[in-house]
Amino acid sequence: MKVLVTGGAGYIGSHVVRQLGEAGHDIIVFDNLSTGYRWAVTCGELVVGDLADEAAIAGLFSEHRFEAVLHFAANIVVPESVENPLKYYSNNTRNTLNLLKAVEQHRVPYMVFSSTAAVYGMPEETVLTEDLPLAPINPYGASKMMSERMIMDLAAASSLNYVILRYFNVAGANPDGLLGQATPEATHLIKVACECVTGKRDGMSVFGTDYDTRDGTCIRDYIHVEDLAKAHVMALNYMADGGRSRVLNCGYGRGFTVREVIDVVKRKSGNDFPVQETGRRAGDPAALMADNSRIKKVLGWQPDYDDLDTIVGTALAWEKIWQERQG
Ligand code: UDP
Repeated sequence: MKVLVTGGAGYIGSHVVRQLGEAGHDIIVFDNLSTGYRWAVTCGELVVGDLADEAAIAGLFSEHRFEAVLHFAANIVVPESVENPLKYYSNNTRNTLNLLKAVEQHRVPYMVFSSTAAVYGMPEETVLTEDLPLAPINPYGASKMMSERMIMDLAAASSLNYVILRYFNVAGANPDGLLGQATPEATHLIKVACECVTGKRDGMSVFGTDYDTRDGTCIRDYIHVEDLAKAHVMALNYMADGGRSRVLNCGYGRGFTVREVIDVVKRKSGNDFPVQETGRRAGDPAALMADNSRIKKVLGWQPDYDDLDTIVGTALAWEKIWQERQG
């Protein structure tokens, strides 16, 4: 299939592009390189451009006849979205609208959208099904929820089919050390801990130790980026086989506490970096895990890397490669 991958030079997008290439797809990556990298595009062609630029989108769609659009390009830092909400409504929501105008005009049949568990907000349940009410508690989650809604409404009014994937906590890296998370100023737990190992950071904080969980710290469902990438390739096959539009959680359905994650990073690296216990971070629910029965049933998806040691091991290996490469 001829596919457009927005944000294909970023962390998750670049892993998906690689798997799409291996599956034989013809790929155009569209990325403004704000947090992505040229080297991360290992298959297909990179077009540098911004989804705010409707003329650039029009040019792209008139040059190529896309059968599918995979839309990753977005800002993803929750605290930044609270401080600068309009950046998120511009780069995430409005730019999705810009893209959808071209999808509609050129009658692109298939779309895969990167959404997030942040659309659920602070649910009372700890294992989340796709049917829960959406109640995001920050502009990031709201910007993604609004994008989901636009995609659903366009699909209802046209021949567009979609798979919306709601990601839980994505981590890890390509097991061959070819790709990984290179985002500057990353805030995610496993990345932060790995940066402590390489010495990029002197230490880290545990945000809150008084949650109602087995050790008082928050529980999250960490999913390996290669398993997540595989779900995208399967979503395309599913739609090409006539599958109807779906919203699917992407997680393993089990969780680890912040302390458990840090312990694995320390054990696997042999580095006992300093960890400080501080107060809760605003907007953190105690526990979030995916009910993943739907994605397993609909796509036939099964994880290959459902193991915290493997996730952390690949993240650590990548972090060392990335630090050395930067000097
Ligand atoms: N966390 C932490 N220290 C850090 C980064 C994250 O204690 O330096 C905690 C955070 O409070 C949350 C969990 O780790 O409970 C996962 O946070 P992350 O930012 O990785 O993902 P989120 O679940 O917020 O999307």
